[in-house]
Amino acid sequence: CGIVGYLGKKEAYPILINGLRRLEYRGYDSAGVALMEGDDLVVRKKEGKVKELEGMSSEETFKSIIGIGHTRWATHGAPNDANAHPHLSNSGNLALIHNGIIENYGALKEDLKHRGYSFKSDTDTEVFVNFIEDIKTSENLSLEDALRVALSKVVGAYAIAIISKENPNKLVAARKGSPLVIGLGKDEFFVASDATPIIEHTNEVIYLKDEEIAVMENGEYSIKDAKDIPQTPYIQTLEMEL
Ligand code: GLU
Repeated sequence: CGIVGYLGKKEAYPILINGLRRLEYRGYDSAGVALMEGDDLVVRKKEGKVKELEGMSSEETFKSIIGIGHTRWATHGAPNDANAHPHLSNSGNLALIHNGIIENYGALKEDLKHRGYSFKSDTDTEVFVNFIEDIKTSENLSLEDALRVALSKVVGAYAIAIISKENPNKLVAARKGSPLVIGLGKDEFFVASDATPIIEHTNEVIYLKDEEIAVMENGEYSIKDAKDIPQTPYIQTLEMEL
């Protein structure tokens, strides 16, 4: 239902929590975040409100400068902790958040099971993240290349954001059918399902087009289409409503 992501120099956790609060108006049943804490990709997720997610981690301190957060409106699998996003791939390398529906997840799941993958949730999203991982590892591709191949094979609608252990300074996002906005700050990037979590940080935004993939890394970003052709995005300046 709601997506928020951050990559920059500040602590990601408060930015993500704040962003999730801004997205609460959309309605949701669970919330979660994924953060790079040292060498660990840490996931905290919970059924219920953002407040409960925060309560769960009130004793913890997070230092990560990259992270993704999600509010879920269940379509595949009951609202519960296991089905909440982010979802990790089997190896623990990838964490993904997803708005929308992957229609062919059943067939993909069967295939992945035969290839040795196991699943902790009932969601289409956990199938999605393992499908990307399977392509990435079996074809030895970069995250964005594996994602592009995966997206050419999934049927459905999505706005997604991914972080990975392997590339702890890279934030990848893509969309088809569901909206996704990228915020361009000073040495920092934001992604979100709409501009509400971004506007307090920057008013320079790019509305990602259908089937585009955005890669943010080392203070730079690139946007490519489904055929891997670099795109020149239209950077929009939003009117600040203060
Ligand atoms: N289909 C996904 C799920 O049920 C995502 C739902 C959403 O857009 O929040 O987990």
